[in-house]
Amino acid sequence: MFSDRKRIKYGLRSMLDLLAAATGLLQWHERCMRQGLTILMYHRILPAAQCRAYPLASLVIPIDVFRQQLRWLAARCRVVPVRDALAEISAGGTRAKPLVAVTFDDGYNDNHSLAAPILEEYGLRGTFFVTSGFVAEGRPQWYDRAAVAWQHAGRQQRRLLLQALPAMADGRLAENVDGRGIQTWMEGLKRTAAAERMKLVMKAETLAGKFLDLSGYQPMSPEQVKDLHGRGHEVASHTVSHPILPQLSDTSLAAELRDSAAQLNAWTGAAVSGFCYPNGDYDLRVEEAVLEAGYGYACTVEEGRNQHDVCPTRLARLPMTMQRIMSGCSHDHLGFRAELCRVRALWRR
Ligand SMILES: [Zn+2]
Repeated sequence: MFSDRKRIKYGLRSMLDLLAAATGLLQWHERCMRQGLTILMYHRILPAAQCRAYPLASLVIPIDVFRQQLRWLAARCRVVPVRDALAEISAGGTRAKPLVAVTFDDGYNDNHSLAAPILEEYGLRGTFFVTSGFVAEGRPQWYDRAAVAWQHAGRQQRRLLLQALPAMADGRLAENVDGRGIQTWMEGLKRTAAAERMKLVMKAETLAGKFLDLSGYQPMSPEQVKDLHGRGHEVASHTVSHPILPQLSDTSLAAELRDSAAQLNAWTGAAVSGFCYPNGDYDLRVEEAVLEAGYGYACTVEEGRNQHDVCPTRLARLPMTMQRIMSGCSHDHLGFRAELCRVRALWRR
């Protein structure tokens, strides 16, 4: 259930959406979408009950909500993979319909079993950024193990975990064990060197002290990745091991970029032109390495619409999270439209 503060915030947000629709501001912003490219960012599509219990709520969307969004997009927009959309916008100008790309990060099993069939129901194709090592190994990622362990840990244990984070010890993170504590835990782990991070994840699993069921955090199989490509979806790279790229040495950075493309190519038989920065982290050195490795574009987690002259290694996306596009348990249809055309970005400034 929502807290009073959240209820007021969401109520105000709905009022602003209605006001934008009544005054024509929403429709004006929707017409602006006919210039440029809007890229939507998803991670997982799951049954509603699983979404409600998911430790990292911003990564999941209920199946029926996703279906409603795609129905709306299919009727009003031209939806194509990012690779094809970039070729279309390069000439600039205004199109008859907004150009939209639907992307999925990481390569979870539900991308193949649930998301792709819904896209295809409406004749649409998406872009799937696959972490190749996740698929090759077939085991849950460190961040899912960390999130599930946190979810099962008690208050005292959580405090111990936060205190063990190097970023907490040197004051780079503010402590918060209630409510948003999981964000602090995950952010602290991301800022920790890989070897130390795995030790902390295992410490969390030991502290949680019970069998942790990770069966819902499986990747696609290599055959499923190949099948996605065969059905006309774009398979693109999200590195081998989902590292924080600016932390890597030149050699490791080049290997992550090169080896993931080679592995995806071995599975699909197709060249890989797309890339997506894990956690959205990149810098100038990473951008240069992406181009040097032969990629044609890279997606960030920065928000915005991409115009024809966008820098190809800085493509903006719009996160489709439950918090933004749902009201209670149902799809907030007007909210979705307001997020899509970015009229809500006016209030968020
Ligand atoms: Zn990712």
